[in-house]
Amino acid sequence: MSVGDCTPLEDTTRMAEKKESTIKRLISSGTVSSEETIRAYRTVPRELFLPDHLVRDAYVDSPLPIGEGQTISAIHMCLIYLELFQLAEGLKVLEVGAGSGYHAALVAEVVSPTGSPPSGHVFTIERKPTLVKFAQKNLERARYADRVTVILGDGTLGYPEEAPFDRIMVAAAAPYTPPTLLEQLKPEGLMLIPVGRHHFWQELLLVSKDKKGKVKKRKQMSVAFVPLIGKEGWNK
Ligand code: SAM
Repeated sequence: MSVGDCTPLEDTTRMAEKKESTIKRLISSGTVSSEETIRAYRTVPRELFLPDHLVRDAYVDSPLPIGEGQTISAIHMCLIYLELFQLAEGLKVLEVGAGSGYHAALVAEVVSPTGSPPSGHVFTIERKPTLVKFAQKNLERARYADRVTVILGDGTLGYPEEAPFDRIMVAAAAPYTPPTLLEQLKPEGLMLIPVGRHHFWQELLLVSKDKKGKVKKRKQMSVAFVPLIGKEGWNK
């Protein structure tokens, strides 16, 4: 039977099975291990962060188009960020590149879990007005709008209104680490940012700032993100 012949109930069951098989594969490959990451993945419904025609592909572990030539990141990439970030309840996080809002919701599920009193918060900046609306709508229907604030703007300049942040995650490829983002990172804070060539491979850097403000950058892996466009990014 083709997918097109399925009843909605069969679709839901298949989606649940695919959701579980994806996380089992990521656990057995050693990509994901922390309980918080796994719980966040199981809790946040990726199907609510996609355009209608892609809902059935929600648990395919690859980037998917969300309009404006942009993508929702692959599941494994979102979860790798969560693993590297050493997240904890109560942290204040800045994301650059809201896209669909899915990655922000996953982080929010760790820093301010569903069912607990609100603690941490995620601020996510997006430069495309249509995607700001898309992310806002998705976060509302998935019930994360109380823990995630979507802002229209150039994220290469951070968000001074709420700085400094415990964590800064950049979800687009930068030519270098924007100094303004570094300034907005708290002492003992962490930043994840892909740095490298435009529309090619980049290195995912884990940037840490110690108590005295000294910065260290460590390469984690090769990645391929859409470009970070802005004053301290690419110009197109
Ligand atoms: N985190 C997203 C999600 O969960 O769907 C996926 C992010 S997508 C790979 C990268 C996003 O960064 C795009 O939506 C793009 O418009 C946005 N972007 C690029 N440059 C930006 C900038 N300077 N400020 C804010 N957003 C930017």
